[in-house]
Amino acid sequence: MSDYVIPEPEPKPIDEKLSMELQILASNAVLRGHPSGDEKCGNCRYYLDETADLSYCWHPKLRILVGENWWCQWWEEIPASS
Ligand code: SF4
Repeated sequence: MSDYVIPEPEPKPIDEKLSMELQILASNAVLRGHPSGDEKCGNCRYYLDETADLSYCWHPKLRILVGENWWCQWWEEIPASS
């Protein structure tokens, strides 16, 4: 029988790098994990699938996965013609 012990998973340098990049991106966007009044990702023009709890935000400065109840400073109303 081997003495090898499977190591516990831990973040790698790439995870720390990505975490830092996403924190900067979130900070620049003033991204919050909750709505701002009536404004939230779920009723923003950049939220790709308004029927999903999580969806892609196609705002050119973000382009990340966000939650329906999140919010950022670049929120925009969905145009009436959509
Ligand atoms: S622009 Fe901001 S408010 Fe709109 S979907 Fe993206 S993160 Fe949410």
